[in-house]
Amino acid sequence: MPYLHRSLRPQPQPVPRDARTIHSSGQSFEQLRQGCLQSGSLFEDADFPASNGSLFYSERPQVPFVWKRPGFWQHSEWLDVVIDDRLPTFRDRLVFLHSADHNEFWSALLEKAYAKLNGSYEALKGGSAIEAMEDFTGGVAENFQIREAPEDFYEILEKALKRGSLLGCSIDTLNASESEARTPFGLIKGHAYTVTGLDQVNFHGQRIKLIRVRNPWGQVEWNGPWSDSSPEWRSVNLEEQKRLGHTALDDGEFWMAFEDFKTHFDKVEICNLTPDALEDNALHRWEVTIHQGSWVRGSTAGGCRNFLDTFWTNPQIKLSLTERDEGQEGCTFLAALMQKDRRKLKRFGANMLTIGYAIYQCPDKDEHLSRDFFRYHASLARSKTFINLREVSGRFRLPLGDYILIPSTFEPHQEADFCLRIFSEKTTVTRDLDENIGIDLPEPPKPTPQEEETEEERQFRDLFRRIAGEDMEVSAEELEYVLNAVLQKSKSLKFKRLSLLSCRNIISLMDTSGNGKLEFEEFRIFWDKLKHWMDLFLQFDVDKSGTMSSYELRTALKAAGFQLGGHLLQLIVLRYADESLQLDFDDYLNCLVRLENASRVFQSLSVKNKDFIHLNINEFISLTMNI
Ligand code: CA
Ligand code: CA
Ligand code: CA
Repeated sequence: MPYLHRSLRPQPQPVPRDARTIHSSGQSFEQLRQGCLQSGSLFEDADFPASNGSLFYSERPQVPFVWKRPGFWQHSEWLDVVIDDRLPTFRDRLVFLHSADHNEFWSALLEKAYAKLNGSYEALKGGSAIEAMEDFTGGVAENFQIREAPEDFYEILEKALKRGSLLGCSIDTLNASESEARTPFGLIKGHAYTVTGLDQVNFHGQRIKLIRVRNPWGQVEWNGPWSDSSPEWRSVNLEEQKRLGHTALDDGEFWMAFEDFKTHFDKVEICNLTPDALEDNALHRWEVTIHQGSWVRGSTAGGCRNFLDTFWTNPQIKLSLTERDEGQEGCTFLAALMQKDRRKLKRFGANMLTIGYAIYQCPDKDEHLSRDFFRYHASLARSKTFINLREVSGRFRLPLGDYILIPSTFEPHQEADFCLRIFSEKTTVTRDLDENIGIDLPEPPKPTPQEEETEEERQFRDLFRRIAGEDMEVSAEELEYVLNAVLQKSKSLKFKRLSLLSCRNIISLMDTSGNGKLEFEEFRIFWDKLKHWMDLFLQFDVDKSGTMSSYELRTALKAAGFQLGGHLLQLIVLRYADESLQLDFDDYLNCLVRLENASRVFQSLSVKNKDFIHLNINEFISLTMNI
C-alpha cells in the first residue's frame, strides 16, 4: 500500500517566463539593457542590491563581502531573470558557487538569478544545488542516502558522470548550529559539494576506487587519505597521477577513497539530464520518452491503489523493456512523474497534489486493465512514497518484459495534468494504453419470416401496431410517448424523461430505410437493443443506486462494445454526467445511442481496414447534424 508522506523539502519555485513581470521598474530585460547601452553605464539591480540584505536574511555576515563585477562578462539573454553582474566576493574570490576556471562566471551569475528568485543567497542554503539545477535544466533529480545506497553505487555514479549528469553530495547536520561546521577532516557539514570524477589507481598492488569532490567555495578541502598532499600519492606512479590530474592546489577540489567518501558523506543527489540539455556529443545519454496526460474527476482521476473501485480508471502506460543494460541482467530506468497545473492556477507549496505511481507486470492482453486485475495482482514496484512534490522520481531495474505504469494522485477525484518521463539506458518502447480504441458492434439480427414467428413475436407485432398506428411506422413523437411510458415503470433505474430530440436520435440510428420513421423490423431491432442496454445498466450499476457512476459507465460501455480512450471518456462524463458524476438511465441511453450512431457512420464511411475517414466541411457538418 502506498503511504502518505508530506514533504519537508522547500518547494522549487517556477522560473518566470516573462522578464517584464519580474523587475520592479516594469522594464523587460531588453528595455533595461537598452537603457544601459544608451547611458553607457553598467546595470545596477535595485531589486536585489549589492548589500548584505541580499546575502542573508537572518545572519550577520562574519566577513566583509565586497561586490565585484567580473571583467569578462557580456550581457547575454540566457535567462529572463534580470540581475546585475555584481557578485559577492571575499579576498578577491567569489564566495558562492563558481567555476574552476576563474574566468567563467556563468554558474555564479546563474546562482545569483536563482538566489534572487528565492529572495537571498541564504534561502538557497537550505535547498540543494541539485534542486536548482533541476529547475534550470529540466533534468530529473534522484536522491540517495549513502547508507542505503545499492551495491552498485559506484557504477551508478560512474554512469551518471559519463552521461553528463550533475552530482551533488552533502553531510547531514543534526541541528541548525551544526550547519557549515567544519569536521576535523576539513569537510563542511550541511554544505552542498559536487562530485566531479571517479577513478581507480594502483596502490601497493591493489585497485583503489577514488572519488573527486569539489567544494564550491573554491577552498577548504578534505585532509584525510588521498587528499591533495597526502602520502598515498607518493606510491602512485606519475602517469596515473597525471591521468587523475592530481595537483596539490587549494582550489576546493580533492580526491578521497570511495570507501571514506561513503563513511563521511550522507547524501548524494544526481540530476539526470535529458539529451537535449547536453551539448557534448561524446557523452553517453539517457534515452528519454515523455507522456503527457491528465487526471480528470469522474473519468481518469482514480486515486491510488487504496481506492480499488477507481484506481483502475487512471491513465495506464505500457513499458516494454526489450534490451539489457550493458553487462547487466535486466534493464535500468528512471520514472519521473511531474504534476502540472490543469487550470494554470498558482498551485505551489501547500496546494501541490500528493502524487506517485505503481508498476505492474503486464498481462498478455494489450488493453486498459480493469478493476479485477488490481484486486488480484500486486504491484512489482512503485514510487518510494506518495508525496506532495512537483515531481516524484525513482530508479528501477526490472527483468526484460512488458509492464504497466500507473500514475495517480493519492486521493481520487483530484485534477491535474501530468508529464511522465522515462529515462532508460536502452530504448524503451512506451505506449499509452488509453489511446487504444476498440469498437465492436454486433451485426443486426436477420428478420424472422412472418410464418415462423413465435407467440412472443406475434404479441410484439401487436404491440407495434398499437404504437405505430395506421401508417405502421413509428414516428419520433410516437417513440417518445411509448419509451417514457415503459421506462417510467421500471423501479430499478432512475429515469427523468426522454426528450423528443433523443427519440429523433434513436430514429436516426435505427432508420435504415431513410424515411425518418421506424418500420416493424427497425423497431424490433431497436427494442432488442434497448433490452440489452437495460440489462447492462442493471448489471454494472454495482451499488444499485439506479444510476450509473462515471466509473460504472466505463465498464458498461466496454461491455456494450465501446472501449474508449481516457480523453473520450472525459468528454462523455463532461457531457452526460451530473455534478455528482452520475448518469440517469436517459443520460445513459442518450450516450449509447450517440456513440453507436457515430461509430456506425464512421464504419460506413471509412475505407476497408482504414482507421480514418476523409470529409469536407459540408460532409462533416451534415454528418454531425445527423448524429
Ligand atoms: Ca405512426
Ligand atoms: Ca424507416
Ligand atoms: Ca450506480
